Amino acid sequence: MQPHEHLLIVGNGMAGHRLLEALLKHEHRPRRISVIGDERTPAYNRILLSSWLAGETTRDALTLRDAGWYAEQGVELILGERVSEIDCGRQRVTTGSGREIGYDRLVLATGSRPAMPDVPGIELAGVQGFRDLDDARALTRASQTGRHAVVVGGGLLGLEAAEGLRKRGMQVTLLQRGERLMNRQLDATAAELLRRELRCRGLDIVPNTRLASLEGDGHGHVRAVHIEDGRRLPADCVVVAAGIVPNVELGRRAGLETARGIVVDAWLTTSDPMSHALGECCEFEGQTYGLVEPIWRQVEVLAARLCHDRVDGYVEAPSATKLKVSGVLLYAFGPIEPDAGHEVLTYHDPQHGDYRRLLLRDNRIEGAILYGDTAFGPWYFEQSLAGRDLGTCRQALLFGAGDAKPLLEEAA
Ligand SMILES: Cc1cc2nc3c(=O)[nH]c(=O)nc-3n(C[C@H](O)[C@H](O)[C@H](O)COP(=O)(O)OP(=O)(O)OC[C@H]3O[C@@H](n4cnc5c(N)ncnc54)[C@H](O)[C@@H]3O)c2cc1C
Repeated sequence: MQPHEHLLIVGNGMAGHRLLEALLKHEHRPRRISVIGDERTPAYNRILLSSWLAGETTRDALTLRDAGWYAEQGVELILGERVSEIDCGRQRVTTGSGREIGYDRLVLATGSRPAMPDVPGIELAGVQGFRDLDDARALTRASQTGRHAVVVGGGLLGLEAAEGLRKRGMQVTLLQRGERLMNRQLDATAAELLRRELRCRGLDIVPNTRLASLEGDGHGHVRAVHIEDGRRLPADCVVVAAGIVPNVELGRRAGLETARGIVVDAWLTTSDPMSHALGECCEFEGQTYGLVEPIWRQVEVLAARLCHDRVDGYVEAPSATKLKVSGVLLYAFGPIEPDAGHEVLTYHDPQHGDYRRLLLRDNRIEGAILYGDTAFGPWYFEQSLAGRDLGTCRQALLFGAGDAKPLLEEAA
């Protein structure tokens, strides 16, 4: 791309905005940059929606930049408008209102949406995902008028939504498909510690169940949830947090190669050399995304590419997970179940609700689950990413950097 060309970013979410910030720091950035997003407000910190729902932070804390900033930077920002078609041949997009915008280079950063199960009643008012500002506002309103909430999904998002609604005074039931909460991050022991803590707070958790149908109140609003074992749970609102679906339809209609996401190479280029995709809408080597850590690394690669810097391609790397439920400290990365080649180091203090489990292979950390005291999580993660041989401090490892580091340094 030549510096005088016009870059159009579709999607003013976390990936699109981060890309913009990275480009604006660059001397050789495209001369003209336009951003178009279908939400009505400029990009905000989506991660903090959970804390906002829980009443732990203000709306202002979510703001990344206001509209004035885009104008000051010379960026054309179009909000509240959805791109409906892309003509890759003519290098033009069309919006829902019929506006046509040409581009030299296109970036799709359209994110993903909640996966909604195909059950009777799913279209009822009061049944929703938890993805954006409007969702959080609708849930806050529901908590002011209703008493009962049902949250579908025992993963990170479901737990954060459930805790948020509970803190707003609702009686919350959480439905979970399997036995274990956060089954992508936690082993049975940590999941049980988490379940006990949340139950003590008043959250009703129903494991091994699925949504069967939703019952309306005769006026198009949800009134109750029916679950597979035949039980009926009253519900003034229902939050579905059972996975996400990448927004690929726009790219697919334009003829871009898509699978679950819009397929990209290591430089985030789609099957059309003038179009790129990044964030939750893209797919690289069969992988799609749901956390920002890998997306930030994609942004670095694409920003450099768009500014003609030489840059190595994007490579997959492990990510660590934290839960944003106040008072619950949890940090995990790597595989959950050990295999035959793993050495398992465990520390468990049930009285204080403290649990640490490390998976080692050849003295190198491959996975960690920390519940309670998570202070050493980032240090374990750093050691894991570096593939460091920790044989010399193995005995002290479970007690973290403070004890292990001196032994490591001594050995070096
Ligand atoms: C409540 C919540 C809590 C989270 N907590 C964490 C966390 O703790 N840690 C973590 O790593 N991740 C967390 N995530 C995930 C994180 O927010 C996402 O990974 C990140 O937002 C993905 O960025 P994105 O730009 O790909 O998608 P988004 O941020 O969703 O942005 C996509 C944007 O594109 C817009 N768009 C879509 N189609 C079009 C179109 N055709 N035309 C114009 N605009 C369009 C969308 O409306 C949206 O504004 C959380 C997500 C939620 C919802």
